[in-house]
Amino acid sequence: MTNPVSLVRSAAYVDGKWIAAASGKSFAVTNPATGAELAKVPDMNADDTERAIQAAAKAFKGWAAETAASRAAKLKVWAGLIDKNTEALAALLTAEQGKPLAEARAEVRSGIDSLDWSAAQAQRAFGDVIPPFKQNTRIIVQREPVGVVAAITPWNFPSGMITRKVAPAIAAGCTVVLKPAEDTPLSALALAVLAEEAGIPAGVFNIVTCAGKSAPEVGKVLTTHPLVRKISFTGSTEVGKILLRQGADTVKRVSMELGGNAPFIIFDSADLDLAVEGTASSKFRNAGQTCICANRIFVQAGIHDAFVAKFKAKIQSLVVGDGAKDGVQVGPLINDEAVQKVDEHVQNATGKGAKLETGGKRPAKDGLFYEPTLLTGMTPDMLLFSDETFGPVAGIFKFETEDEVIGLANDTRFGLASYFYTKDLGQCFRVASALEYGMVAVNEAILSNAAIPFGGRKESGLGREGSQEGFDEFLETKYILIGGI
Ligand code: ADP
Repeated sequence: MTNPVSLVRSAAYVDGKWIAAASGKSFAVTNPATGAELAKVPDMNADDTERAIQAAAKAFKGWAAETAASRAAKLKVWAGLIDKNTEALAALLTAEQGKPLAEARAEVRSGIDSLDWSAAQAQRAFGDVIPPFKQNTRIIVQREPVGVVAAITPWNFPSGMITRKVAPAIAAGCTVVLKPAEDTPLSALALAVLAEEAGIPAGVFNIVTCAGKSAPEVGKVLTTHPLVRKISFTGSTEVGKILLRQGADTVKRVSMELGGNAPFIIFDSADLDLAVEGTASSKFRNAGQTCICANRIFVQAGIHDAFVAKFKAKIQSLVVGDGAKDGVQVGPLINDEAVQKVDEHVQNATGKGAKLETGGKRPAKDGLFYEPTLLTGMTPDMLLFSDETFGPVAGIFKFETEDEVIGLANDTRFGLASYFYTKDLGQCFRVASALEYGMVAVNEAILSNAAIPFGGRKESGLGREGSQEGFDEFLETKYILIGGI
């Protein structure tokens, strides 16, 4: 196995060079399971960001002019190197983010899938020939890369969120300036080490790292610079709105993957064991820190008690600890604010009458772990109903009828992922249509893949990632009318 240390960089990556911040400032990246410092990376500012945008703009013409097959070939070499280094990349990901190694490996794998899928799709960016509306003319519609893309990513998928944006962008012929999350920049930099080795040309993929307090300054340049043509953001709805406002003056193309508040519905007819397994994997994956994790778990009255009993046993069997250790299923939360938010949701629920079935506290006073928690008797006036918990807390809402639960599920400003379990065929189609969400999974808990259109409605975002739709977000349509024929 490659030593993960060989992929660790303490420099940003701009124009094919590994550089420090012009100011010389840096910030520390730590392991959330142990508190140990892993590396220091550059704390860059507006000037550094300008330099990266200029590099991306300079590289764009040549990269866009390469054949799709040539770009695809380079992406495939990159994917191969990621595959070869999976263990090292997964170890680094777990070290900076905390998730169990098995999940980190799966995340690295999803990046390979994004690269493979995008490499293939690049060669199918077909245009159109339209019957002309005038004699002696021809009409051609061609697809062209949008230009320089600014990508801003969160810490919960430090590798997968990068590849999901960068793979289709550069496959389509765009160039990218990426600002990874301050908690987890090392996985992004490690991917750049391999991109460089794969022969992705200088300036095509640039990384500007910065501390949390510098993010607004760097973000402002990325979203207002006239040379940047598109913003691709994944993160909170609040920050997404800031970026949308900032991008408005130069009419940036935008893709926004924002917050969720996923309903997870278990109907009386559900297969109980399947539902328990599915709820646990959706709720406790990444310690509950994904925007598509089950947030509000609605269980119909007839199956409620049986479900709670089995689900509680399942939760009590989960192994909590450092994700790098064998057998650990739930790692630490990312930082202290995250732990405080989770605890606030639990205290708020029990204060308003919910029953604490298991968990409900930190296993130790210091450290960023939180016990997998089960609450029953939840009601819509509790914080967990309206606000994404982003932690290992399962809150059960009991309901009676299908109409009632559809109303509850849709009673949110979010609309990303939704889930339900049923064996009733009619109910399957009725409920799938009635849910106001970008994604619906029926009798399944894991829905993400490079081939599907990932994205949300309402305040969960704009645009899609993955699939042809996600790829097309990096292409402009050009209509060409040719006369005098
Ligand atoms: P989360 O709550 O998941 O941390 P955030 O929306 O705060 O989500 O962060 C997602 C990404 O957005 C991170 O890379 C973060 O540094 C960045 N970010 C936060 N605030 C801003 C801002 N004002 N401008 C640009 N990027 C920002």
